[in-house]
Amino acid sequence: MEKPFIAGKRLVNAAFKQRFAIGAFNTVNLEVNQAIIETAKEENAPCWVQTSEKTISYAKIPNLVSMTRIIANENKIPVVLHLDHGHSVTQAKVCIDAGYSSVMIDTSLEEYETNLKLTRQVVTYARSRGVSVEAELGVLSRQSDMYTDPDQAVEFVEKTGIDYLAVAVGTKHGAFKLKGREKIDLKRLKTIHEKVPVPLVLHGASSVNPKTVKTANKYGAALTGLKGIPEETIRKAIKLGIAKINIDTDLRLAFTTGLRQFLAENPNEFGTREALLFAKEKVKEELRHKIKLFGMKNKAHNP
Ligand SMILES: [Zn+2]
Repeated sequence: MEKPFIAGKRLVNAAFKQRFAIGAFNTVNLEVNQAIIETAKEENAPCWVQTSEKTISYAKIPNLVSMTRIIANENKIPVVLHLDHGHSVTQAKVCIDAGYSSVMIDTSLEEYETNLKLTRQVVTYARSRGVSVEAELGVLSRQSDMYTDPDQAVEFVEKTGIDYLAVAVGTKHGAFKLKGREKIDLKRLKTIHEKVPVPLVLHGASSVNPKTVKTANKYGAALTGLKGIPEETIRKAIKLGIAKINIDTDLRLAFTTGLRQFLAENPNEFGTREALLFAKEKVKEELRHKIKLFGMKNKAHNP
């Protein structure tokens, strides 16, 4: 029988209490979706699948919802399906109506009062349907450095009623040609954590494994200057209230590096499944690493 997805806050709150973090993994297709859910099952870890708006236009909501539900049922584990960076109230509502169990409303580029108002609208809609809500304060873009203000964060959480808050503390999305290693303002994070009662979310937290980059380059890529967050910083951030960590870039890098490697090593292979399966295994390797780093292993959700 098909079961609905479980509310995001059940996983995030449990992680917050036990001082580990939920790896919130972005899916794009069948193989990545299988990789995320199968690895969670194998590692006895909580499972969180999320889709960006770009993935929604690529794969369409009904496919993403059905696929995630079917793979979760096959593996017999509870799964959260989350909208990552919904930029409008409408997008959030569409996902909630389609069965998502957590949504992020990201109107952080709007004026503060507008961000507050739109976020509150989503919370009202989501709450009556048992869906959790994440919102963002400060700006996490590649260009801007508008960090989250701790006092404003307190007011924002109180007035909106969100379940977890995405903070801007120095990380940036993607891993593309950044100057120097990304830095997290741990002092600011500590202050926010001390003042704000809800769990915090870290975006732009990929580590960019140098070994994977080396493999990609060995098999035809020319990737230079890719930087991510040092793993030591991730461990510190988890101690300072981060209970959900978004990972997209590292999975994409693992997947495409797997494809490059497979096709280079098997120049006469044109089977689709063979290439995709090899890439999927590379994603699973990366996921196992993250599950260990975030402290998720053997922390599977038990209702
Ligand atoms: Zn993000």
